[in-house]
Amino acid sequence: MILKFHGGAREVGGSCVGVETECCKVALDYGAKIDKENHRDLPKDLDAVIVSHAHLDHSGSLLKLSKRKPVIIGSKMTQKVTIELLLDMIKIQNQKNKISKFNNHDAEIIRRNWWCRNSTALPGMTIRLYPAGHVAGAKMIHIQSDNKQIIYTGDFCVHGTEILDGCKIEQLPKNPDVLITESTYGGTIRENRDKLIDRFFEKVRNAIDRKGNVLIPTFAFHRSQEMCKRIDQAMKKGIIPKYKVYTISNLARKIEGFFNENKEYFTKEIQQQEKPFKYKNVKHIFRLSQIKKPAIVIATSGFGHAGASLNLLANWASEPNNSIIITSGYLPPESPLSQAKEKKEFEYKGDIIKTEADVEQIELSGHADQKELIKFIEALKPNNTVLMHGELDQAEMLASKISQITEVAIPEKDEILDF
Ligand SMILES: [Zn+2]
Repeated sequence: MILKFHGGAREVGGSCVGVETECCKVALDYGAKIDKENHRDLPKDLDAVIVSHAHLDHSGSLLKLSKRKPVIIGSKMTQKVTIELLLDMIKIQNQKNKISKFNNHDAEIIRRNWWCRNSTALPGMTIRLYPAGHVAGAKMIHIQSDNKQIIYTGDFCVHGTEILDGCKIEQLPKNPDVLITESTYGGTIRENRDKLIDRFFEKVRNAIDRKGNVLIPTFAFHRSQEMCKRIDQAMKKGIIPKYKVYTISNLARKIEGFFNENKEYFTKEIQQQEKPFKYKNVKHIFRLSQIKKPAIVIATSGFGHAGASLNLLANWASEPNNSIIITSGYLPPESPLSQAKEKKEFEYKGDIIKTEADVEQIELSGHADQKELIKFIEALKPNNTVLMHGELDQAEMLASKISQITEVAIPEKDEILDF
């Protein structure tokens, strides 16, 4: 069995691993690498593509396969959300006057060729999907072929959150021949999540005491709904006082509909609620002019480089009573949000805006940290472990901790491993 690392090797972004056996050739994920998409050479001649989850760094290149009408395997939630994100990507490219190479029909072909199943048989290969705990619908992929077993984690999380259970280690087959795991936080140990959530609420309470505005940039898929639910519940329970709360993103609203219709992806507690993602204290708006200040606004994009979150950052950053709470782990260094945090000023439409507002990063991540990665690998006891989806320094720090348990490889881009 041959594995080829087309993307996501010693980096985060553009994940794609080719798996080739005697009678079958599949790809695990088909992710995009933002801004470098045109220079990538991903395999085209495939029996199937198995998509771990709907984030575009795992699914964003699927449109390139539309002419070939490939079989795509993944959860129903991953299908629904991926198609929305692909349609959004086409729309944004067209708006930027960079007429997209693809149109909505290409996205429709991808949707139609999607097999929403948790287990599938291909020639000489069986494929099973297991919950990964990273975002709604995220799956780990188990492959059995040539008498070999592979587990590909995609992005995963061991601990649960307000809306999603962590991955279920006990359900996974043990002693795989090869474990291909993400290593985003391979060298990082995070603070306890409950403490981070407490700090988050404290920041919100402080801003409310000052009668300030709070901007929370989030991603339209999963993190936005999770944040709305978190704040809605905290207000219900009196953890934070009542205040005006808005969320502004058509895409997030559409995905919220999928969440309400497909409750089976979420925790038991969420499943027991009739419309769990219908909020009492959070209002959907369509235009920034609908905001009645002071208010808390949950806005896209999560990187604060476009959309309502950039607009509000530009409007609110110079006022010391305001607060900007970043919950994403990674920020592009050149993004206005990152500059506002690090340099206390950023450029917006040719002006330099000084940042007087309180800018705090409280990372509420959906990835396993080093402790969780080690716990996971110890429980699975793989013969070989391949680290990807992590910068080289993070992967190396993890490798040094697990080399007693398993053989470890950190392949380079386009490297081939034969098992
Ligand atoms: Zn992801």
